[in-house]
Parts: sequence; structure tokens; C-alpha cells
Amino acid sequence: MTLSAREISTQLSALVSGDAVITDTNDMGAYLKEPRKRFHQSAAAVVIPPDVAAVQAILRWANENRVAIIPQGGNTGLVGAQVPLYGHEVILSTAKLNAIRSVDTAAGVMVAESGVILENAHKAADAVNSMFPLWLASQGSARIGGVLSSNAGGVNVLAYGNARELTMGVEAVLADGRLYQGLNALKKDNTGYDLKDLLVGAEGTLGIITAASLKIFPKPEDHETALVNVADPEAALVLFQLMRERLGSRLNAFELIPHIGLEIQMRHAMLDADRTASHSPWYALVEVTRMAGTEPGALQSALEAAFEREMISDAALATSLADRNRMWDFREQMSECQSKEGASIKHDVSVPIAAVPALIREGIAAAEKFAPGIRPVPFGHLGDGNIHFNFSMPVGADPKAFMAQYDEAMHGIIYEVVLRHGGSVSAEHGIGQLKVDLLKQVKDPVALEMMRAIKTALDPNGILNPGKMLG
Ligand SMILES: Cc1cc2nc3c(=O)[nH]c(=O)nc-3n(C[C@H](O)[C@H](O)[C@H](O)COP(=O)(O)OP(=O)(O)OC[C@H]3O[C@@H](n4cnc5c(N)ncnc54)[C@H](O)[C@@H]3O)c2cc1C
Repeated sequence: MTLSAREISTQLSALVSGDAVITDTNDMGAYLKEPRKRFHQSAAAVVIPPDVAAVQAILRWANENRVAIIPQGGNTGLVGAQVPLYGHEVILSTAKLNAIRSVDTAAGVMVAESGVILENAHKAADAVNSMFPLWLASQGSARIGGVLSSNAGGVNVLAYGNARELTMGVEAVLADGRLYQGLNALKKDNTGYDLKDLLVGAEGTLGIITAASLKIFPKPEDHETALVNVADPEAALVLFQLMRERLGSRLNAFELIPHIGLEIQMRHAMLDADRTASHSPWYALVEVTRMAGTEPGALQSALEAAFEREMISDAALATSLADRNRMWDFREQMSECQSKEGASIKHDVSVPIAAVPALIREGIAAAEKFAPGIRPVPFGHLGDGNIHFNFSMPVGADPKAFMAQYDEAMHGIIYEVVLRHGGSVSAEHGIGQLKVDLLKQVKDPVALEMMRAIKTALDPNGILNPGKMLG
């Protein structure tokens, strides 16, 4: 029997204190609106459990009564995975599970509850002269459970890996309320399936993460950062290879930015000054970490080698922390700046690194043929093979008409190029609601069967984030 919204709220209020349950639609607003503004649906209620025992009680009850539960962290996900699809779901916010349980610098492990805001995890590591190296533009709102469940990437994946590689273990409540206590901190543990890796990246479809043991690293003494002029993505790839050879694991970021990004940001006064050395069709933001006790200048000498080999024509090295921050602002504002120029079509895709230039070249050619005047804005993590392959509408176009005419078809065009080069249609943002149909079309059928079998085994009543990822 399906419970009514009123029954759901009454029964939830009996499980957790009344003020932990929100049923008024206006008060639910912040939990229902998502950053892309694409998915609009109401919920039966929002519940904010105060501790892990309450999460267990809620899931036990939800499983018995077949009530759908959507785990939600900071609500910054970009594929609609954290907001309702049907309108009868309960959003379970992890906001109150916000303790840092321990930080062990000798072992290089921090245990954080899932509701800890990513920026607060950074601060906790920083307080003991360490670093949790997962940096996202959304880190002031995104929470550890959401970051892990979407296996977020960001700008340091090159050196430290994505969320999955930074997670040593998780504690999670399963659909029937049982607690999986997998908070280990072992570098080596060959005792069967890696259950942590199932829960990380599961988008809340297999369990609710309540805490995680995360890898922390010694804090670098300093960073060396440069904006380097590159002629095209081919030249950027050659430069990337040289930087890897010269700098090894000290190379922590290699980001590609097209000149149009600078033009847009200057036009809308998003930058106080142009930090590039001179005009160039493309720029690479290159950054190196410098550990205590090592000499500065590694990036400068690697760039000098690139000059000598005529790989690059010009570069601007950051001369202060403020300078470095402004260079990063330029990179981090690439997504936001497009909204100032009307509608844009976005793709979060990856290909093997060597295929990035071909992806960009072929993608732009196909897009411009299909939609004359469209403005390509491909940018992002070249060092990870992950490009945010975006397109701004032609100058003066009508945003609604542009999206109606081109949005869907442009996805097909770009994904065809991506798949032809052995790539992925979702590099770091996930599947959520946005790419459910696409996943069915492009994923290996055997992989889909395995994923469905795992889902059925762990959540036989389908109460955890129904309709997301697997549909
Ligand atoms: C400005 C901006 C910049 C971004 N930059 C990047 C970037 O560089 N790289 C990148 O990878 N992503 C980026 N993102 C998207 C990224 O996925 C999110 O920022 C972040 O990882 C999600 O964290 P959250 O707490 O907001 O999760 P939410 O949005 O609340 O949830 C995301 C998913 O996790 C699930 N979930 C949440 N908490 C739990 C839990 N405790 N247990 C189980 N499931 C849970 C939800 O159900 C949902 O499926 C960006 C987003 C924005 C708005």
C-alpha cells in the first residue's frame, strides 16, 4: 500500500524529531532547486537525520513501506541525481552528519562524516599541515557523501586521482537499514570484492554513505603556476607530454582554455585584468607543487625547455598567491561565463588523452557544419582527457529557439565523435536523470546487466534513488 504524503510526514516525525522533517513546499525550495534548473519536481518530504542511527531507522521504515528515498548532500550535482523525479520521494539530507571523526597525519587518513562540506574537509586537513586534494568550484556547498557518490573529479585528478582514488573506506546504511562498517584505512586488503568502490560513484542508488576514510597528503610548501600560450590542442598535448617528462608527479594540473573564454570574461568584467602573456588562440594553465626542502623554479625551467624546442611562444608565470588565484579564477569561471552570453549546450566527456586534439577538431567541425555561427567553448582537464565540450549560441540568437533547434541534436553529434575515439559520455558529472536513456544506448549490455543485478541484490524493493542512473 502506498503511503500518502501526510502519512509519510507523520510516520517520519515519529522516527526523528519533528523539526527534522520538512513538508511545507516553500520550505523545501532549497532542496528541490538544482544548479542546472532543468529538473523541477516536488517531494513528499525532506528529512534531516541527526545521526547514523536515525538514518538506519528511516531506511528500515522506508524499505518496509516502499517509500522512495533520495540521498542529498550539498545539492550541487549537475545531472539531477539528487532531486526528485516522480514527486512522491523523500529527500534525506545529510547536512547534520557533519563531524570530522578523526585526522591521522602519520597514517594519512581523515575520517569525515558524509555531511561535511568539502571546504571544511580542506580546512581540517590544513589545520594539521596536510591537504585533502579534491578541489571543485562547488566546494563551499558540496558535501563528502555527494562528492563520493558522484565520484567527483576536479582540477587535481592528474596528480591525486578522483574521489574514488582518494577514498580508503566507507561506512554506509543499506536499503534495509543495516550498517556496512567499511571504514578501513588499509593500503592493502585483498579479502574479496571492493565494496567501497561499489558505493563510491553509485549516485545514492545502493546505500547511503554516512562516513568515509579519506586520503590526506603532506601540504606542499608552494605552487608554481603559469598561463602558457599554445597554438592549438595538438600543441597543448605535446607540451603536456614534455611537462610530464620534466615534472613527473609534481605536475598537478594541466587545463586547456580557448581564447573565447578570455574574451567573454573580459567583456563581462569577470576578471580584473588579463593575466595571459599575450594573445593566443588557446592557453594551458599549468601548475606544479613544490614540497618543503625542494628548490623553486621547476616549472620555469620546464617551460624554458619548451621554448627552446619551439613548442610554445609565450607564457605568464604567477608571481604571487594573488596572481595564482586570479589565473585559477579565469579557469574556474569558464562554465559560469557562458551563461552571460545566452544559452549554451554542454557536454562532460572524456577520451584517451592522445585523442583530445582529434575530439576537439572533429567536434568543432561537425558542430559548425550543423549549426553555422555556433561558438565552440571546449575547455578543461586536458591532462585527464576530460573536456567540457560546450557551445554558446550564435551572437544575437534567441536562446529558447536555439536550444529547441540544436540541444538534442548537438549531443548526438558530439557523442558520436567521443564514442568513435573510445571515450565516455560522462567523465565526471555522472548519469542522474540527465543521461539515463543515453547510458542504455552506449553502455556495454553485459555491464548494464551486472549493474542491474547488483542494484537488485542490494536494494530489492528499489527504494534508493529510483529512476536515476539505471532508470
Ligand atoms: C559550480 C560547480 C562546479 C562543479 N565542478 C565540478 C568539477 O570540477 N568536477 C566534478 O566532478 N564535479 C563538479 N561539479 C558537480 C559535482 O558533482 C558536485 O559539485 C559534487 O560532487 C556533488 O556533491 P553534493 O554534496 O552537492 O551532492 P548532491 O548534488 O547533493 O548529490 C549528488 C549525488 O550523490 C548522491 N548522494 C549525496 N549524498 C549521498 C550520501 N551521503 N550517500 C549516498 N549518496 C549520496 C545524491 O543522491 C546524488 O546522486 C560541480 C558543480 C557545480 C555546481
